[in-house]
Amino acid sequence: MVVLEKAPAKINLSLDVLHKRTDGFHEVEMVMTTVDLADRIELKLIERNQIKVVSESRFVPNDERNLAYRAAKLMKEHFSIKKGVRIFIEKNIPVAAGLAGGSSDAAAVLRGLNKVWEIHADLDELAELGARIGSDVSFCVYGGTALARGRGEKITALPSPPPCWVVLAKPSVGVSTQTVYQKLNVNKAEHPDTEAMIKALENKNFEAICANVSNTLEGVTTRLHPEVNQIKEKMRDAGADAVLMSGSGPTVFALVSQDARVQRIYNSLKGFCPEVHIVRMLGNRETPC
Ligand code: ATP
Repeated sequence: MVVLEKAPAKINLSLDVLHKRTDGFHEVEMVMTTVDLADRIELKLIERNQIKVVSESRFVPNDERNLAYRAAKLMKEHFSIKKGVRIFIEKNIPVAAGLAGGSSDAAAVLRGLNKVWEIHADLDELAELGARIGSDVSFCVYGGTALARGRGEKITALPSPPPCWVVLAKPSVGVSTQTVYQKLNVNKAEHPDTEAMIKALENKNFEAICANVSNTLEGVTTRLHPEVNQIKEKMRDAGADAVLMSGSGPTVFALVSQDARVQRIYNSLKGFCPEVHIVRMLGNRETPC
């Protein structure tokens, strides 16, 4: 039996860090939405009681450090499964980029193994398991558009944004999420108006969405990697409606409503960044398994 799962990237329309908790995690409020840049996960049932991860990407580990492996191990232990799986990852999402590539792979493995091993858990249960793997995994189990609170694992579905183009540009540097959080001074950083973003989505108001994109982590990553600001400027100059860094970066995204401007923005970044993608917002949730 072979199951294919799409593992889409996410962008943060807003990301607020409220405070550091006593357990060491940060309390966050993030409005996230999936885009149609996706890894492709192939799950093949094997009778041997073994988890095998295969990927041609030189940027991700093929062993127990891979989040896809950790997701499979957790499913196996939690549901006492005695069968095995071979997981092939076609990596299309840039790694350590603020696009939750690893978390989305893990979420796709949870959804896929639910079918391959015939577990019949619902998405809420899978999202709960996902939270044990990483803060963004619960969101990625559902996909679509949502508010994520707590350390990222408390998910409330939101209406999808009105359709628009998204240009993603990643400079050649990778960013460690942990380092960015360590360097953040919550009291001095900029904070988004999350309520206003939610209202903008509810009203399907593209201008208000653009006016409220904001990321508390952006200042930290920009100080470490000034390229982030240069990319933002280039996108603005080429006619983007809104520009923001996603997650802990360094990927920057532009929201663009007019078809004519998308190619102009892409061209202005193509020689400057090694990875530039034109994608669409997916907006809606995964269909339940
Ligand atoms: P987030 O936006 O959730 O902070 P990110 O996009 O910044 O995530 P990832 O691409 O998920 O970062 O990778 C972060 C780290 O996880 C990398 O150092 C990578 O080696 C490791 N990793 C483990 N498994 C995977 C995987 N399947 N895909 C990508 N990275 C993985």
